[in-house]
Amino acid sequence: MKHSAGNALGIYISIPFCRTKCTYCNFASGVFPASDHARYVERVIADLAGAQAWAGSVGAELPRRVDTVYLGGGTPSLLAPELVARIFAAVRAEFDLDADAEVTMECAPGQLTDATLGAMTAAGVNRVSLGVQSFVDREAHASGRLHSRAVVEEDLRRLRAAGIANLNVDLIAGLAGQTLASWEESLAALVASEVPHASVYMLEVDEDSRLGREMLKGGARYRAGLVPNEDAIAQMYERAIERLDAAGLRQYEISNCSRLGLESRHNLRYWERRPYLGVGLDASSMLLSDPTLAVRRGSGQGLDEDGDLPRFSQRARKGWGTQDSILRATTTDDLATYLAGTGAMETEWLGPARQHEEAWFLGLRTNAGVNAAALRAEFGEELVEPALEAVERLAQDELLVFEGERARLTARGRLISNEVFQEFLRPETAEAKRG
Ligand code: SF4
Repeated sequence: MKHSAGNALGIYISIPFCRTKCTYCNFASGVFPASDHARYVERVIADLAGAQAWAGSVGAELPRRVDTVYLGGGTPSLLAPELVARIFAAVRAEFDLDADAEVTMECAPGQLTDATLGAMTAAGVNRVSLGVQSFVDREAHASGRLHSRAVVEEDLRRLRAAGIANLNVDLIAGLAGQTLASWEESLAALVASEVPHASVYMLEVDEDSRLGREMLKGGARYRAGLVPNEDAIAQMYERAIERLDAAGLRQYEISNCSRLGLESRHNLRYWERRPYLGVGLDASSMLLSDPTLAVRRGSGQGLDEDGDLPRFSQRARKGWGTQDSILRATTTDDLATYLAGTGAMETEWLGPARQHEEAWFLGLRTNAGVNAAALRAEFGEELVEPALEAVERLAQDELLVFEGERARLTARGRLISNEVFQEFLRPETAEAKRG
């Protein structure tokens, strides 16, 4: 993880409530009664209040200074105004939020009341990500979304009138019934909306979603037979990047394009390996941590399955600074468990070798790419050299370019990025992922 004394924290808060379940979705989100919303927010507030104590127990450093907050889901805009206000009051009570912090909230078109919008602006939300997916009404409806293009346009107008101009629109390439012509229609509408940021995802259907099950077993309810094939989806994606670039929205990450200076600061921190705290259902944290401290503080965490300190922390004692250990922690994905407050946090410490792998596949997601000299300085020659052999192979296959110590994916590399990233995994990590 990139670290410096002045590291600020990002906070991600997951709000797992949706009005309907989209056909392709397999996130830990669902349709739950409003009474659960209030109970859930209570838990989130309790977790924010307990975050410093928890971090101390696992030997992690949790900066008080926060420069990005992201409320994602799910559909955070479904929360009642007082719940939005309470969440942000808790963030401000427990942390020092920078005056110019980026504060994002995900909203579903047509699912944002004036009262909730008022609470958002009062709480300092200054960026909104709108889950549009398609501006073509029949496609949006077929995938379980409730809005129309007119509703999206009206929401963008309301958000701007409320003073929120930093707006993102999400689109998905590959929805059932989508064609190259209808995709062009969505792209034209996005460009006409003049939002400064767009995220474009290639549909990956999870077999456990309703659409995924229908694709495997047959049926017509979710129009699985009308999902475009992989080549068509790739063509849509490439066309989107080209069309958005022509409109001044430059690609800066595999799925993200923006006007210069309006990149998502929160999402950049994931790819640039800066610390974040995840609160709520199925949320992850990445923090600087020393597992030896976790053991000394008696949390029972920090030891491997044989009851020993992980190998890398032995090494830490011989010269690696304690900052060379990173803690990844993930909360439960079961709502009842989360509401009951009984879910144990899953924790895992990453030593230099794992961090180095992540540095490659997170960094390569960005158009800025990975600076091999910086990685040598951070991790040493021994770890970086084998990765540079992978870089050479990938450059020969034109999936990546390597110039002046900087490796970047090519357009083709971005299309099959997951396969490219495999090349940077050590055999033991690849094995663990398969297992
Ligand atoms: S709105 Fe998002 S989280 Fe909710 S069901 Fe649809 S895709 Fe899933």
